[in-house]
Amino acid sequence: MTSLDSFKCARTLKVGSKTYAYYSLPAAEKNGLKGISRLPFSLKVLLENLLRNEDGRSVTKDDLLAFVQWTKAKTSDRDVAFRPARVLMQDFTGVPAVVDLAAMRDAMVHLGGDAKKINPLVPVDLVIDHSVGVNFFGQADSFKKNVEEEYKQNQERYKFLKWAQRSFENFRVVPPGTGICHQVNLEYLSQTVWTAPGQIKVDGKEQTLEIAYPDTVVGTDSHTTMVNGLAVLGWGVGGIEAEAAMLGQPYSMVLPEVIGVKLTGKLKEGITATDLVLTVTQMLRKRGVVGKFVEFFGPGLAGLTVADRATIGNMAPEYGATCGFFPIDDDTLDYLEDTNRSKDRIDLVKAYAQTQGMFRGKSTPDPVFTEVLKLDLNSIEPSLAGPKRPQDRVALKEVKTGFSQSMDKEFNKASEMAKRVPVTGRNHDLGHGDVVIAAITSCTNTSNPSVMVAAGLLAKKAAAKGLKVKPWVKTSLAPGSQVVADYYEKSGLQKELDTLGFNLVGFGCTTCIGNSGPLPEEISEAINQNDLVAAAVLSGNRNFEGRVNADVRANYLASPPLVVAYAIAGSMNIDLAKGALGVDKKGKKVFLKDIWPTTREINSVIRKCITKDVFKRKYANVFKGDTQWGKIAVKGGLTFDWDDRSTYVQNPPYFDGMAKKQRPIDDIVDARILGLFLDSITTDHISPAGSIKEASPAGEYLRDHQVRPKDFNQYGTRRGNHQVMMRGTFANIRIKNQMVPRIITW
Ligand code: SF4
Repeated sequence: MTSLDSFKCARTLKVGSKTYAYYSLPAAEKNGLKGISRLPFSLKVLLENLLRNEDGRSVTKDDLLAFVQWTKAKTSDRDVAFRPARVLMQDFTGVPAVVDLAAMRDAMVHLGGDAKKINPLVPVDLVIDHSVGVNFFGQADSFKKNVEEEYKQNQERYKFLKWAQRSFENFRVVPPGTGICHQVNLEYLSQTVWTAPGQIKVDGKEQTLEIAYPDTVVGTDSHTTMVNGLAVLGWGVGGIEAEAAMLGQPYSMVLPEVIGVKLTGKLKEGITATDLVLTVTQMLRKRGVVGKFVEFFGPGLAGLTVADRATIGNMAPEYGATCGFFPIDDDTLDYLEDTNRSKDRIDLVKAYAQTQGMFRGKSTPDPVFTEVLKLDLNSIEPSLAGPKRPQDRVALKEVKTGFSQSMDKEFNKASEMAKRVPVTGRNHDLGHGDVVIAAITSCTNTSNPSVMVAAGLLAKKAAAKGLKVKPWVKTSLAPGSQVVADYYEKSGLQKELDTLGFNLVGFGCTTCIGNSGPLPEEISEAINQNDLVAAAVLSGNRNFEGRVNADVRANYLASPPLVVAYAIAGSMNIDLAKGALGVDKKGKKVFLKDIWPTTREINSVIRKCITKDVFKRKYANVFKGDTQWGKIAVKGGLTFDWDDRSTYVQNPPYFDGMAKKQRPIDDIVDARILGLFLDSITTDHISPAGSIKEASPAGEYLRDHQVRPKDFNQYGTRRGNHQVMMRGTFANIRIKNQMVPRIITW
């Protein structure tokens, strides 16, 4: 579709030997969109999107003029239609979306049409990352065994996805064992400025040219926001919205307010990006930024790498914003270069951003914002967040007292602080606050070499002093891409992590999505029989009760090095800021500061071991997968060969009885409320991703289909079967229906 281009801004841009077409913001400003050069960078991306898609229907001239109004009022109630450049999916939410596409192909054939016509209209990438669990840990073969288990459990889904990989156009699948969708997106898929051939009228002549425009994305995972660290505007949407985007439909949104966060100063020695993001989360939660864009600016940006920015972008859902955007600058270009993006692309990003007024340089004037908040990076201190909410930041020095307070207020067990119980068959006991899970997990942090290298160096120093992880801690390391494994091997840090039990368990979400796997039986028994408040420390982004593990009630988010430190300490009842972490081989006390790596040490490893070549090698065969993926035999051609016996993937009935001629839509009459819920209901309450209880309707269905409870897997993995999902709606064990007089779980 050619834009109506009411503001006559279609232009060409020559970069090296290539010529691109684009919709020029400076030209649009000159031709009527007065003042738009002062817009926040994130809104410039949105404005370009509308200029390019002006069709007089979904995007009108008045929609474009609303941006001019915005520069005056800094707010707007105008609904605008945003068309993302591409869609990103993970396998939990991606499978049902692809099931719908496959069902559409069947319906097309049934109606006598051409199945080949059913394809996504915008590029879609689906990364299989959510299904690997930590069933094995702390051993050299943990990774191999977890992958075997993953393939065994998910064979039916993977067959389906492999068929989709071969059958659909505009659709790519990143096979299991490659990485986490947002890290793969950051390190490889994103281009910052996208290009695609299209019709455009330049100089009065309609022609097909390569059109350049800002890379934008919607994803079926809320932390799609991470890529805003690379100046790619994007956020998570529901499955239906993602399917609509896949099929070229616009995403409708109110032209948002933009909260500018002015960063000044510099992070102090020893302070991590995780400490920073937990502070940002607390600060923005307090302000209230739901439905708004957040954009970072100010001199403090100069000290933050793109990986740090991505960590901050990642937790936008936790601070409540639609996204946390960072504009293109020299660091963005460096990151693209360091991660092996092509020279042509980097040249284009630079030229396009500079031409469009989307490049932030030292002398670029600050944009206008709806409101400005200030944060001095110098004020950030070592932090965790917990025990239940990501916005409940606790300074490291206050963790011990914070946990005692939670024992009183949250868990009502203040009098039991000193209680310790024996663990069957082991020569240690267990008490409240003992750390039973320590997981280096989640794209939030595993995408950031500075904190990952810090974890490795801390492990090295701890091991050298003879410190060990407490025997009740389930340790795991699940990086978000194979790049991490490469630099860990090359630097020798993996060996050091292995010594402390942080062996590789998989390349995927694991503990972050709740796939922490079962605790050793005797630990689980000690917790449950004595109603202990056991703790987890993870480098993830969500910590509400029930998310991480059913046996763990206090969950703390922390940087990867702090995860290692707490695994050694083994308890939240220790003041790591002042108290000793343990004793060395000579019996001398070891403090956290003794083993905390310096910035110089971290940077030295990064410089030596993380090169462009690593990214080149690790992403060379990103869509090919491992041998197990290669072995999956695929049946079906243009349409999928559904297996009626599958309890994972079923052809849904949504198109049954569909005729060529559309029938009128009936009204819904006499509808009644069936459920009434209090605040803080999340998608996980409505459609849980976690374990399936044997006694639940979904459990009964699976048993009726000869699935043994040990093979139930999780709701998330069974979303391709509408029969399970209908039964799983509102099945989260924590949700309470206020209409029912007694507490009931659905
Ligand atoms: S690691 Fe966590 S935040 Fe990242 S994609 Fe997986 S579940 Fe989402």
